[in-house]
Amino acid sequence: MLTYPNLEQALKHHFGYDNFRPGQRQIIEGALQNRDLLVIMPTGGGKSLCFQLPALMRKGLTVVVSPLIALMQDQVEALQKNGISATFLNSSLNLHQTRLREQGILNGKMKLLYVAPERLMSEKFLPFLDLVQHQIGLSSFAIDEAHCVSEWGHDFRPEYRQLISLRQRYPNVPVIALTATATERVRLDIIKQLGLKEPNIHLTSFNRENLYYEVRTRTKNAYTELLEMIRESDGSTIIYCLTRKQVDELTFQLQHSKIPVLPYHAGLSDEERSTNQTRFIRDDVRVIVATIAFGMGINKPDVRLVVHYNLPRNLESYYQESGRAGRDGEASRCTLFYSLGDIKTIEWSIAQKTDQQEQKIARQQLRQVIDYAETNVCRRTVQLGYFGERFIGNCGKCDNCRNPRPTQDWTLEAMKFLSCVARSKEKFGMTHIIDILRGAKTEKIKLYEHDQLSTYGIGKDKTVSEWRTLARSLLQQGFLEQTTDGYSVLKLNAYSWEIMRRQRTVSIVVPAAKKVSLQEDSTNNIEVELLFQRLRSLRKKLADAQGVAPYVIFADTTLKLMAQSRPQTKEAFSKLSGVGSHKLAEYGSQFIQEICAYCRENNLLSATPDIIPKVNPSATTTELVSLQMYREGLSVEEIAKKRNFKPSTIMRHLIDLMEKNHDIDINVLIPVQKQQTIWKVLDTLGDVSLTPIKEYLGDEYSYEEIRLVKSKWRRKIKN
Ligand code: ADP
Ligand code: ZN
Repeated sequence: MLTYPNLEQALKHHFGYDNFRPGQRQIIEGALQNRDLLVIMPTGGGKSLCFQLPALMRKGLTVVVSPLIALMQDQVEALQKNGISATFLNSSLNLHQTRLREQGILNGKMKLLYVAPERLMSEKFLPFLDLVQHQIGLSSFAIDEAHCVSEWGHDFRPEYRQLISLRQRYPNVPVIALTATATERVRLDIIKQLGLKEPNIHLTSFNRENLYYEVRTRTKNAYTELLEMIRESDGSTIIYCLTRKQVDELTFQLQHSKIPVLPYHAGLSDEERSTNQTRFIRDDVRVIVATIAFGMGINKPDVRLVVHYNLPRNLESYYQESGRAGRDGEASRCTLFYSLGDIKTIEWSIAQKTDQQEQKIARQQLRQVIDYAETNVCRRTVQLGYFGERFIGNCGKCDNCRNPRPTQDWTLEAMKFLSCVARSKEKFGMTHIIDILRGAKTEKIKLYEHDQLSTYGIGKDKTVSEWRTLARSLLQQGFLEQTTDGYSVLKLNAYSWEIMRRQRTVSIVVPAAKKVSLQEDSTNNIEVELLFQRLRSLRKKLADAQGVAPYVIFADTTLKLMAQSRPQTKEAFSKLSGVGSHKLAEYGSQFIQEICAYCRENNLLSATPDIIPKVNPSATTTELVSLQMYREGLSVEEIAKKRNFKPSTIMRHLIDLMEKNHDIDINVLIPVQKQQTIWKVLDTLGDVSLTPIKEYLGDEYSYEEIRLVKSKWRRKIKN
């Protein structure tokens, strides 16, 4: 094979770059050998250069077919900025301008001509092209966005189908087809539809190394998270929504939050759309909220964040849309918000399709999106696997690789759950099934005599939220069905029976069962955050009614404590720092009510169960002295100093006192966050000795702290 030692020089000379990106060199070499080429490269891979550089190194004109006028203009302007003679012909030009440009081409001044496919195939244009061929020669046809030729692709354009006649008319002019399409089927279709002759196929990895992929559950808190992400990212953001209505609503909300943002969807006039797009590209606004109508014409290189606020239709679209982030190779973020509500909406719309086959495909695609969102393995492995590319994982740049979530075998629990569904005759929803398993005494259970079922009360060892996690996971893994008639009745399927017959195992992600994410268990933080927001609005309401500033009622710190420990009685509430007797009397019951309501709605318990003070006389004198000082409000360090003891000794006193039923507020001794972490480990490991717990938690946790929480935990278990 020929090599071109001066290709690097040419690259530097024309474009100023020092090195080729992966694949570019081989492709350019192939082009210089006048071969037909199929170039498959992910967005941002640097496709344009693959035909632009050869165009400059060969005699004659390279004709570039490009589907979008806006894109054409962009590329031509960029080339001209590099001193390269390029031009375009499209419907935006008047007759005079067109003539001038055609003249320039025939004078041999141009190396690259961009045209839209419909113009290329028009009756007047082909004779002009013949003339070019005759006078100065055609060096190559470059078909950009070549997937538009395929019905299997995501942007089918019928006019692309006529491009094959170029092949017939100019059989010796090589064709280079370029696309970022990843599926095998579309690739084969491109070769066929464009009549490529023994093309060199260049497939660059679809791994976009600079992108960070993550999936988040779209909780009520999603908007706050979104705001944070936008504020954190220092560049442009694209947010994709499913419908125009959602686009408008979110735009409105963001404007309200003082984010410079514009909408983009098919409901706007052409003019509005193009203005908004331009203002986004020019960084007049940082954020654009759009339906998927937005994007193909965008090669803005510095998009730092692409958020899918709704589920994408399929993985290929997700890859393409999220791929609009970081074309310039700089670190960028792709976030997908995942919600069961979206799945329902998409399922509903699939059900509206009349074509059975289409329905089947759409379902399968949805399944793949769900699998992607639900997966515990590296997101890249799933994405690239979808495109037939093997990726070992451990990319370090996705949420799963950063915070690995080990799974646990929950086959036994799944068997319990499913047989409970079976025994109650597949007529009930999740909540009722969990009630039966946990031996609840509800009206409904009495009414149906479900306390007579053999599965009644067999699941007391798991919390409501654990059962929910399991049930959702079963649904998401397809091991259980749910009716879509609005009642969400659970139904068994073939997989369910396999599980019950022990022919299939079930693994689920249990958030409490690992070390890394313990510290930053997002669901837990979300719960705290949500309650915090609620308490804030209650505070605002009360403050407004009284004409005072909110912080006068309770400081943020106190609200945070409330949100973390969720006290549900006056006694527990009064222990929070910032709650004096006056405020307890004035506001206590309203805040407690709010906390109780929140806990009820979210199946949560109080995080700090009330401590029943029963003074135990066996406390030693020295402990009682420490207790006295502690009651006076001194910190552990202060007591230690005063008594000339080590702080760990005082800590031990207090722990012993607690175990002897003295009333010690452990929030003073150890941050709530740490308590929750230790609590979860205890829930997982059970009543084991301190050493394994300490090993599990690592250096950040002291034996004292673990012991402290453990004694509290034990009391909770006993009660
Ligand atoms: P694609 O069409 O594959 O999405 P582009 O051709 O628009 O990608 O190229 C993406 C970006 O990468 C552009 O800003 C381009 O100038 C830049 N680029 C292309 N090749 C190189 C290279 N060899 N070195 C540095 N930057 C490059
Ligand atoms: Zn990964």
